[in-house]
Order: sequence, then C-alpha cells, then structure tokens
Amino acid sequence: MGWVKGWVGKLVDVGEARTAAGRALLEERYAALLRQIPLLYVVALTNFVGLQLATDGDLVSPTSPSMILCGFVCARLLYWLRARGRRLTPEQIVRQLWKIWFNALLISLGFCLWALTLLKVGNPQYEGHILLFGTLAGVGCAYGLSSFPGAARLPLVFLALPLAVRLFLSPQPAHFGMGVSIILIILLILHLLHVHHLAFTELVRSRSEIAEGRERALRAERLAKAAKSKAKRVADTDPLTGLPNRRAFLRALGKNVAALERGGGGFALAMLDLDGFKPVNDTFGHGTGDRLLERIGERLSSGMGGGAMIARTGGDEFAMILPGVGTAEAAEAAGAAICVALKRPYVIEGREFRISGCCGVTLLTRDDCDVEQALIRADTALYRAKEGGRAGVAVFSEEMHVMHRRRAAVEKALRLPETQDRIGLVFQPITDLATGELRAFEALARWEDDTLGRIAPDQFIPIAEQISVIQELSQRLLAKAAVQAGRWADSVKLSFNLSAVQLCTAGSSEQILTVLDQARLSPHRLQVEVTETALLADFEAARDNLSTLRNAGTRIVLDDFGAGHASISYLREMQFDGVKLDGALIAGSEHSLRQRRLLKGVLDLCTAMGLPSVAEHIETEEQLALLRQLGCRDGQGYLLSRPLDADAAAEMASARLVKFQARRRAA
Ligand code: C2E
Ligand code: CA
Ligand code: CA
Repeated sequence: MGWVKGWVGKLVDVGEARTAAGRALLEERYAALLRQIPLLYVVALTNFVGLQLATDGDLVSPTSPSMILCGFVCARLLYWLRARGRRLTPEQIVRQLWKIWFNALLISLGFCLWALTLLKVGNPQYEGHILLFGTLAGVGCAYGLSSFPGAARLPLVFLALPLAVRLFLSPQPAHFGMGVSIILIILLILHLLHVHHLAFTELVRSRSEIAEGRERALRAERLAKAAKSKAKRVADTDPLTGLPNRRAFLRALGKNVAALERGGGGFALAMLDLDGFKPVNDTFGHGTGDRLLERIGERLSSGMGGGAMIARTGGDEFAMILPGVGTAEAAEAAGAAICVALKRPYVIEGREFRISGCCGVTLLTRDDCDVEQALIRADTALYRAKEGGRAGVAVFSEEMHVMHRRRAAVEKALRLPETQDRIGLVFQPITDLATGELRAFEALARWEDDTLGRIAPDQFIPIAEQISVIQELSQRLLAKAAVQAGRWADSVKLSFNLSAVQLCTAGSSEQILTVLDQARLSPHRLQVEVTETALLADFEAARDNLSTLRNAGTRIVLDDFGAGHASISYLREMQFDGVKLDGALIAGSEHSLRQRRLLKGVLDLCTAMGLPSVAEHIETEEQLALLRQLGCRDGQGYLLSRPLDADAAAEMASARLVKFQARRRAA
C-alpha cells in the first residue's frame, strides 16, 4: 500500500512556501506555468477541434456537456493569457497551484467521461479517432503542466490512461497494438515527469542557494561597511567631548583649503588654549576636569555658525575653522567672541567654574593657504596671545611671521651640540654692600650667533626648555662655569641659575653634582638660583632636587623674590640660604616713598626669616646708599660691575674686592 500512498502524495504535491528553496521553487514553477498553460489549453482545444473534423462534426452538438467543457477551457485560456506578467507571493502561488490542480483533475475527468460516453453512444467507426485524440490531448496537457508534476500526472492518469486501457481492451488488433504503445508512452512520460521534476527542483535549489550565498555575501559586505564607517567615526572623534579630533580636523582643513584653491571663499583658522586648566584637574580631580571639558566643547560648538567646525586637538586645546572670516578685524572679533563665550561660568555638580582661554587666529586666502603654514601661523598667534596674559586674542601678522621664523631658527640652532658649545658665559660679581668683599659671581649665559646675531638668555633659555635641550645645555654651561670657578679663591662662590624644567626634573641634582665632581669643584662652592615660578611647576620634584644639593653643601637662593605672588609660602616650606630681591623692587626706590617702604618691608621679612638678602639691578649711587641703609647685605648691578668675561672675573676674584669699593675707600 505504500506505493499507492506515494503515488497519491505525488499526485497532490503542490510545493510549500516555508523554506527559501521551497519559495524559489514555487516562483519558478508558477513562472513556467504562466508560459505553458495557455499552450496546454490550445492543445486541448486543438484536439477537440481535430476530433470534430475527424468525425465530421457528428460527435458533438452545441448543447452537449462537451461544449460546456470546451467553453470552460476557452475561459481558462483567456484567464491565463491575461494572467501573464502577474506577480504573486509564494502563499498566493500555493493557492493558485491548488486551483490548477483541481481544474486539471476536473478537465481530465470531464474529457475522459465525455470520451467514454462518446464511445458508448457514438458511431463505432470513430472509436479509434476518439481514443487517439483523447489520449493525445492527455499527453499534450501533461507536457503543458510538466513544471507542476502533481498536476501533470492528472491528464495522464485520468484521461490518457483510461482511454489507452480502453484501446488495449479493444477486440480490434490494431487498437490493441495502439493501446499497448500508448500505455508504454504514458508510463514513459510519467517517468520523464518524475526525472524532469527532480532536475527542475535541483536546479532551483542550487539557484536559490547561489542567491542566498550572494545575499549572505552582500549582507556581510554591508556589515563590513558599517563596521568600517563606525571605526572611522571612532577614529575621528574625541571620546570625551564627542567633537572631531585632531585627525578629523586636519582632514577638514585640507578639504577647505582644496575648496579655496578651486575658487571658494577665504576662512580663518583659530586655535584656542585654556588658561590654567591644570589646576582644575589637580584640585577637583580628573572627573570634574573631564566634565568641564565636555561643557566647554558643547558651549563652543553651539556657538559655531553654519559651515564652521570645532575640534578638540589636545588636552585643553581646541581648533576651529571659521568660514567667511576674511579680514584681520573680523578674525580678531571672532577670536574675542570665542573667548567671551568661553568665559561665562560653568556649573558642575553644583559648583561654579570660571575658565578662560587664549585664541590665536590666522586667515587663509587663495594666495596663502598652505595647511602646514596655516597651522604654524595660528600656533604662533596663539603663542603671542598667551604672552599677553589670560583670555588674550592675537591675529597672525607679518611681524609675527618674522618673529616666528627667528624662533624656528633659534630652535633649530639650539638642537645642535656645536651651538650649545658656542654659548658662553659672563660673570657678574655679587658683593658685600658694606665691605665690597666679593662673595660670588653669577654666571650668565651669552650667545652670539653668526647668522642670528645676539640672542638674550631670557629668550633662548625658555626655548631650550620647550624643546627639551635645557638639561644638556645647562650641563655644558655649568661645566664651563665650574672650570672658571676653579680659578677663583675658595671664598668666591659660583652662583648658577637653574631653569624651571631642570629644577623639576628628577635626577637633575645628581647630574649637577656629577658635573661639579668632574670639574673638581666642591658643591660648597656652588650656589643655585631658583625662581618661584620654577617652584610652582612641580614643588615636590623641586624640593627633592634642592634638598639633595643642599645636603651636598650647595647654597640655595630664591631668585627674583618679590616679582611673583606666592613667595612667602615658599619661604616657609622650603629651606633657602638666601633671597635675591627682584630688580623691580630696587628700580625707582630712590624716588618713591611707597617703593622704599615696600623694599624695607621685604628686607625686614628676610631678616626676620634669618635669610641674607642680595639686591640686584643696583644702577645708581642712591639705590646703593638706600640698600645699605636698609641693611641689605649683598648686592649686584651695573653700578657695581657689568657682567665680566672669564679672565676679567678671574682677575677680580684674585683681588676678592670689587673695584668700586676700593675706589670708595680711596675717596
Ligand atoms: P636673572 O637671573 O635675574 O639675571 C640677572 C639679569 O639682570 C641678567 O640678565 C643681568 O645681565 C641683568 N642685570 C645685571 N645687573 C643689572 C642692572 O644693574 N640693571 C639691569 N637692568 N639688569 C642687570 P641676563 O644675563 O640677560 O639674563 C636674563 C635672565 O636669563 C636671567 O635673569 C636668568 O633668569 C636667565 N639666565 C641667564 N643665564 C642663564 C643660565 O645660564 N641658565 C639659566 N637657567 N638661566 C639663565
Ligand atoms: Ca639669577
Ligand atoms: Ca634675578
């Protein structure tokens, strides 16, 4: 019974829409049926007409059921002709297939019954024709439905086969032969239908697999593209503020410049650097610092006009592209607007913060739009703005350009060991103001360059610090100074200026002691001058270095005292052996009562702390007299002596007296 079940299953198999392959098979099947079914009905009708002609129209009358059947066939033919090009969903196709299946069954049985009726009631002379046309119609229709085997088997089984069997059972030998042959053909076609069905299913399955593979590949490609664009977004974004980062900014700047070269409008490049942001981090923690940066980013970007761009390019640095800014005045106004917006207070976790920033702006025009140069120019302007103090704005100008070029040349030269070797020293005496006794020489760096001319130390020392060559340079200078100090009497000290970077770099003190050791100069002969601004940078590191030196016997002198603002706390927290009063305290003291009072106050403070004081920049007799009167112990200045070259210093050191004193005594 199993094979019967299998046959019935094959007869009613219309396909299914659950799987992708099933759906593809349904679509292919329906597309083929759309092409083939009209043909099938034509075959059926042709056979009907053929039979009509072969039997001289005897067999049918216009009112017979066969005509109704033919009418139905014609109607279906028209339906299918109109259905061409129609697209159905797989579920609709399943329903449609069921209809086809049902119609095929109906028509097959209808024609079969009609043929059998004809045979019974008709003229026996036409028996052969009826059976032949009937079986041919069945075979033809089966071919017409070949892409839908479940339906294709119906005309074979329910039309062609009964008629063929009827032929086979005919007493006429010729009919018997035809019957055998037609039954064999029907069996062959049933087999071919099966084979065709398998091949068709396989073809569709592999096609749908290929399509699925392609779909998968496309999906993977889409995912890869999305991942790539996400990675690009991440790589271009500052994670803290969500603003574009330096990389993205440089690319945008490049695009703007390219547009400018193609004839677009000029624009400005602005760089913003926050003032005093580090203390916020140090005092309130990095979390608060981060929040503040976020808010600053939000504020700045909300103030940007259309087409403008803002990026966070560094810790507390922002860069902006400002379209439509074409003049120095407009650039200045734009920079000022940024600084003003920045200054409005920020409230973070209930606490109010105020922060300012300096802004450097440069213009980009069609004639002057090199990206590298523009960045350097904006940076130079920012540098200049910062020189002017907090919330400063500077627009790049030609004069800055010259300054910048010179600075770049100074930087370049300072990196060369031969330049560092060429930087020499002069020595300015520090004397006891009461006795004229020579206490020390302050070593002051001098650089006379062949091409750059004379460069003052307060210009090149900060540059050497910024480009991190100060350690090397300072060691060379100290080595030279120590050699000279070796020529002086033991009581004459070498006073040497320590730069801020050096003071705050761990290990500097050991290096200094090594240099002294190499020059065979006792650390007792050295006194180092440090400024309060240098101490400000990293107090702990500075204290470590200074205590190492102090323990080795070196004197520590606080330089430029009175020029800053936090000195008294340093006097309390760090042990000094002397204080050098800033030149500004002395200048004008002879003419101003207030200045004199201030000077006296500072000197009294030093005395109270037990610290010997040195006055610098003594330029007039009056200043000298006043300082003596106020009890200042030591002094230094053009009045006493200009800085001397090494030999002159050695000569003075051998006398151990500064000449003005000798002159005074003689007088
Ligand atoms: P400073 O330590 O305050 O040095 C004193 C400066 O005052 C020197 O300028 C000196 O030439 C100048 N001076 C001396 N007497 C008078 C005077 O009567 N009136 C006036 N107006 N000025 C006088 P200089 O040599 O140009 O040095 C400037 C600064 O450069 C120094 O200030 C010091 O901070 C730094 N410096 C110089 N040489 C070195 C060095 O070898 N290493 C380091 N780290 N810094 C140095
Ligand atoms: Ca000094
Ligand atoms: Ca000084």
